[in-house]
Amino acid sequence: MNLRKASAAAAAVLVLSLTATACGSGDSDSAGEEGDSGAKKITVGIKFDQPGIGLKTPDGSFAGFDVDIATYVAKELGYADKDITFKETPSADRETALERGDVDFIAASYSITDERKEKVDFAGPYLLAHQDLLIRADDNIAEGSDLNGKKLCSVTGSTSAQNVKDKVAPKAQLKEYGTYSECIDGLAGGAVDALTTDDSILAGYASQEQNKGKFKLAGLSLSNENYGIGVKKGDTKLVDDINAALEKMVSDGAWDKAVQDNFGPAGYKNEPAPKIGAIVS
Ligand code: GLU
Repeated sequence: MNLRKASAAAAAVLVLSLTATACGSGDSDSAGEEGDSGAKKITVGIKFDQPGIGLKTPDGSFAGFDVDIATYVAKELGYADKDITFKETPSADRETALERGDVDFIAASYSITDERKEKVDFAGPYLLAHQDLLIRADDNIAEGSDLNGKKLCSVTGSTSAQNVKDKVAPKAQLKEYGTYSECIDGLAGGAVDALTTDDSILAGYASQEQNKGKFKLAGLSLSNENYGIGVKKGDTKLVDDINAALEKMVSDGAWDKAVQDNFGPAGYKNEPAPKIGAIVS
């Protein structure tokens, strides 16, 4: 081999090895990335502190209606339980988490709204809830406007806080915390007079062992909250696939079972399963 041939061969080897490196580095985005074992992985945004909806338990496992919805949907998309990573997505962080690609989808008591639809897309709805109030057991509140002048807690970035400011009680002293469990502490300690968010969430808190007999729901229906699964804007294929999974979950009885398992203990009377695309305004 003369010198020119030898360097041509060396160059060919170099090109081949560079190509191999580029292929191996994996340039896919976060959706469906391959883990070390080669199995596809998925990251799902949920709540970590809402009993009955999305809760991280002391042993590190996850429980709640949204967790069951997310697990069923992920399975339909081709991911086994072990391939799912749950990530906490507090109310105010949900749109950003999807925009940044931190999570592949979100099932976190996430109401479908026109404002949010400017930033993210939604599959569903998969549950219809209503905004209500949680008050101390010996208090009484007959209607939303009774809250004017009272100290009310809700969460930043939630429809619940927005609805108080816009409609329910614009003159309430609204304290916006980062999570609903901080509001519960405020209600127990007397820092606030009521906590407002979806009845589905409030029922879970009221039925927790440490809260039994302390709080009650006022029983007001202050809004319609159509829970959707949030995905990155423009991912219509994922929306379609999730909608197909949700339809299957309702038709094969798994949706009913998830309702029984998660809302049964709290005595929460849920609305029937919504039809895909049917938003109650
Ligand atoms: N469903 C309402 C919302 O999406 C309130 C519950 C929550 O903050 O997660 O804002």
